[in-house]
Amino acid sequence: MAHRVAVNDAAGSKRTSRVRVAVRLRPYMDKQDEKGEGPCVRGLGPQTLEIVNWRNATETLQYQFDAFHGEKTTQQEVFLSSVKPIVSHILNGQNASVFAYGPTGAGKTHTMLGSQEQPGVIPRAVREVFHLVRTQEKDQGEWGFSVGMSYLEIYNEKVLDLLSPNSQDLPIREDKDKNIIIPGLTHTSLSSFSDFHTHFVPASLNRTTASTKLNQRSSRSHAVLLIKVVKSQRVPPNRQQTGKLYLVDLAGSEDNRRTGNQGIRLKESGAINLSLFTLSKVVDCLNAGTGGRVPYRDSKLTRLLQDSLGGSAHSVMITNIAPEYKYYFDTFTALNFAAKSKHVVNRPFVRETMLDSTNSQHPVARKRTSEELEAE
Ligand code: ADP
Ligand code: MG
Repeated sequence: MAHRVAVNDAAGSKRTSRVRVAVRLRPYMDKQDEKGEGPCVRGLGPQTLEIVNWRNATETLQYQFDAFHGEKTTQQEVFLSSVKPIVSHILNGQNASVFAYGPTGAGKTHTMLGSQEQPGVIPRAVREVFHLVRTQEKDQGEWGFSVGMSYLEIYNEKVLDLLSPNSQDLPIREDKDKNIIIPGLTHTSLSSFSDFHTHFVPASLNRTTASTKLNQRSSRSHAVLLIKVVKSQRVPPNRQQTGKLYLVDLAGSEDNRRTGNQGIRLKESGAINLSLFTLSKVVDCLNAGTGGRVPYRDSKLTRLLQDSLGGSAHSVMITNIAPEYKYYFDTFTALNFAAKSKHVVNRPFVRETMLDSTNSQHPVARKRTSEELEAE
């Protein structure tokens, strides 16, 4: 897209990177659809999707993004297209961030963490970092690399160290070079991927255990993994560069007040909404490219990410969505946040799968093929 290239490749010295926005639609799950209504959203191409217009069933809403990953997209494909291109920058002293955004149940943790059989962005990115480090150490003997990790959670606007579970709320500071630092946060050196695995798995479990006790806390906190690469010159002048990669599984974007989730105190849902709301303002501000003040300081999450989101950093937001009707309003909100463009198209939503007769009275459930519709 011409205008996008122009923004990213502008020769100006004060270059501000856009945040790339990808959308990933997870597969339709019967269990998530008690009413058997079928999906309400589907992909149309590598950058577009359509969703039923609930106000008018003769229309769909079509949205465009930097990338759209349909329900058949593999973990490997998501990694290759949306994440791998930005990872290499952290070996050159630049910063990067990857976020998974979207309502609870839409696939954020699947995208970031995945499973043993289908590893997600986090294990793939860490493997890639070690792979790049090994290759560059071979090719550029003059430089040595050290890799380390920190892992924290932002819950109720508190910063908690997941590698040191009994720690208190940690402060976020900025040093004289405008690097964001967290004094007191555990930083663990890593010599290999298996070393990472050894430290990360129990820390993730920490988070899960806490979550069952504290009423699904994991869906209301932001899990932030930091991978830091320090590149040091072995000979004078012994230059040193630090690159940071943030991999973030965000809190669910659903409106906790609207869904009337009873265990949630108002303060808590307010805090979640504050940090996600601020993130959306920051992303809008960066992508509008109009200059102006970016409101990083308005929440812990955006303050923490200030040196790794916008400016010279490389960022991608993967918005996860679910196809079932029960997610409709949360999907709609998430898409409006993520979209580059949106337009109303005057044709009914077309189902890819046939519906049984009990649903045929549903206004959007007409069984017409897209060819028939194109021909009209
Ligand atoms: P979230 O973290 O956004 O709440 P999860 O990642 O836990 O959502 O996903 C909800 C459920 O859907 C999980 O059982 C997960 O394994 C499954 N799931 C999510 N995305 C996919 C996908 N792309 N392919 C297959 N299963 C998926
Ligand atoms: Mg999750």
